[in-house]
Amino acid sequence: MRKTLLILLIVVILTQIMTGFSLTQGLQENIEQEDIDRNEEFLKEVEWHGEYDVIVAGYGGAGATASIEAADKGAKVLLVEKAPKGEEGGNTRFAGQGVLSIDKEDIDKGIEYFKHLRGKFNTPSDEMIRAYLEVGSENYSWLKYLGAENITVSPFQEYDYPGGEVMDSMLIDGEAWTSSLYRRLQDAVEERSDSIDLWYESPAVGLIQDPKTKIVHGVKVENKGNILNIRAKYGVVLCTGGFENNQQMIQDYLQLPYAYSKAARYNTGDGIKMAMEVGANLWHMSNIAGPDLNVLNPETNTTFAYAIQGRKDILSTGFATQNVIFVGADGTRFTDESVLPNHGHVDFHGSWRQMPLSLPAFAIFDETARLSQAVYPSWSEGNLEEIEKGLIIKADTIKELAEKIGVHPVNLQRQIREYNSYCRNKKDPMFGRAKDTLKAINKAPYYAMELVPSFTNTQGGPERNEKGQVIDVRGNVIPHLYSAGELGSMFSGIYQGTGNLGECVIFGRISGRNAAKNKDTVITESVMVDREPVIPSWQEAEEIVLQSGEFAGEDRGIGGPIKVKVNMKNDKITDIEVVYHNETKGVSTNAIDTIISSIIENQTTEVDAVSGATVTSKALMNAVKNALEKTE
Ligand SMILES: Cc1cc2nc3c(=O)[nH]c(=O)nc-3n(C[C@H](O)[C@H](O)[C@H](O)COP(=O)(O)OP(=O)(O)OC[C@H]3O[C@@H](n4cnc5c(N)ncnc54)[C@H](O)[C@@H]3O)c2cc1C
Repeated sequence: MRKTLLILLIVVILTQIMTGFSLTQGLQENIEQEDIDRNEEFLKEVEWHGEYDVIVAGYGGAGATASIEAADKGAKVLLVEKAPKGEEGGNTRFAGQGVLSIDKEDIDKGIEYFKHLRGKFNTPSDEMIRAYLEVGSENYSWLKYLGAENITVSPFQEYDYPGGEVMDSMLIDGEAWTSSLYRRLQDAVEERSDSIDLWYESPAVGLIQDPKTKIVHGVKVENKGNILNIRAKYGVVLCTGGFENNQQMIQDYLQLPYAYSKAARYNTGDGIKMAMEVGANLWHMSNIAGPDLNVLNPETNTTFAYAIQGRKDILSTGFATQNVIFVGADGTRFTDESVLPNHGHVDFHGSWRQMPLSLPAFAIFDETARLSQAVYPSWSEGNLEEIEKGLIIKADTIKELAEKIGVHPVNLQRQIREYNSYCRNKKDPMFGRAKDTLKAINKAPYYAMELVPSFTNTQGGPERNEKGQVIDVRGNVIPHLYSAGELGSMFSGIYQGTGNLGECVIFGRISGRNAAKNKDTVITESVMVDREPVIPSWQEAEEIVLQSGEFAGEDRGIGGPIKVKVNMKNDKITDIEVVYHNETKGVSTNAIDTIISSIIENQTTEVDAVSGATVTSKALMNAVKNALEKTE
């Protein structure tokens, strides 16, 4: 008997060797065939309203990239966006636009650097880091392929770790804060309108998963109150950003009672919840690119600009380096106001940790500081309007100020006396604030502004592997589900600036490409035979109606198109009306009013841009120029 079994085993092994076929492979194929049979049943159970090869949720940098890549691999793509038309683009649109880049021959050094950024965290794996940097080394050529003409590349290393010297940052058109990357991606999506359908005001609200096979077959999309079941034959890519605007998730995951985004308004953690519903494992949930301290804009529920902490530069207005200190709930200082943390992280005894905060927090300053500069570029001269609006609280004495903001007066008085003594001695023994920024707080009246923790973005979300596939709580791939961008970013420890936009391009490409590739493992017959696809709807910008003497013009600002109507009489510009724009409230409204008055007064579009709103100013000037060209 044993002899017979042995002979049988040898025959099986020889057969495998000769045919290149393995028992496990055969088993796998049987299972897949079974799965397909089962999912055929499942597909019949769902009432479908539309069908695509790939569905991408979220039209930020990651979603745009995934859609482009899937379309270029031959897929018919549906890109669904939650925001109204003109407000899409999440964080990507408002970001600094620096994109990570690395030369192919430097990848090993880059891996060394990224392992230092990972520190003692277990993730991302070495394979993940390699995949990220290998595809990242193509970022430059891919943006060129998309038609970006003028790309500047400069060295950029956020942390002084070995290998970091090979990291580069790319900017399209050489300027930060101009939305240049997002515009290029938007153009590329529009250029592919034959293969990418784009729906606005259509949030993804759930995934359609076969409960037996776990294959994700589609997305539930909400449009005008209706839930539409849209099939994705080959794959779904979640690119819905983080949970920057979900205060409950901020409390649950960040150990902060509140914190505010600097930009994205529609990122409320939807992708995280949808992924959880289909069994995804979450990672990096407590990691954010932040916090630093800023003033909250009550109109937008985001902060006014990037930062006031640290020296004046491309990121900070530098206000905190004037006669200003930050104090916590007990009226004492808790940080070095002259240094902007590295994406919210400070060197804590040789280890980079999120900046510890005391909340509520306040900036305390005096009359000299008030007159020194506008706190934010969009604020009024001398910050007078903001005092009137209640964003700045004023008092004649420190004691009175402390009482107004609910801080212990004795503590605050003592803290200011102590800080002023550091200014006299040119040394801050508490936090080592830079000598030249030690400016005494001694000229009444005194002021306080409430500061809130702010951050550029969250990093957490569903775990993904180096193929962009979403992983479940047991470590298995969730079939046909992918992700990209800051939703489940691979950054676990400290973060290399440019790495998030880098990740949009890198994982947008990986996931878009892989989602488009699953053709062999699915039923390819349409589920829409005898069914009419549902046509969604959203608000388009109103048509501009022109009277005689009026001319329409258009250009693109940071928030999308700026459309103007210019009224001409006897060759003179008599009126300019901005009929459509989506620029940031406050900064843009100031700029728009100023530029319009300036153009009319000087009868030229060559006027000075408003500081802090350069892109809006230039776009408005160009839109007027565009209208004037039509008068010729
Ligand atoms: C001020 C600022 C400056 C920054 N500067 C840089 C920088 O220079 N370099 C860098 O690398 N990173 C930078 N970042 C970080 C970077 O911008 C983001 O991490 C990155 O843009 C995230 O891209 P994303 O596509 O993943 O998400 P987002 O760009 O935020 O896009 C998400 C999209 O999904 C949509 N959405 C949300 N929910 C749904 C839903 N349920 N269904 C459909 N759509 C949905 C949103 O409306 C949005 O359009 C900056 C961030 C900020 C705020």
